[in-house]
Amino acid sequence: MDREKDLIDAFENVVHSDFPNPERVGCPGCEVLAQLVRQPADAQVCHLLEHVTKCAPCFDDLKELRKGPIETF
Ligand SMILES: [Zn+2]
Repeated sequence: MDREKDLIDAFENVVHSDFPNPERVGCPGCEVLAQLVRQPADAQVCHLLEHVTKCAPCFDDLKELRKGPIETF
């Protein structure tokens, strides 16, 4: 479990250093990110994972959303 967290932390560092995206170019918005957390397999939103892995602010938003009351696992 700790190993998985280490991986996520390492990935987070990479996203932040390589894709800071301070202007939030192409960001889908919080509503859509919440949808992604609720229904990650939904064809309408699953392509957004591609964006989130290349956008630090969205990555952070998604991390916060997953900590929230919505249980996905
Ligand atoms: Zn974004």
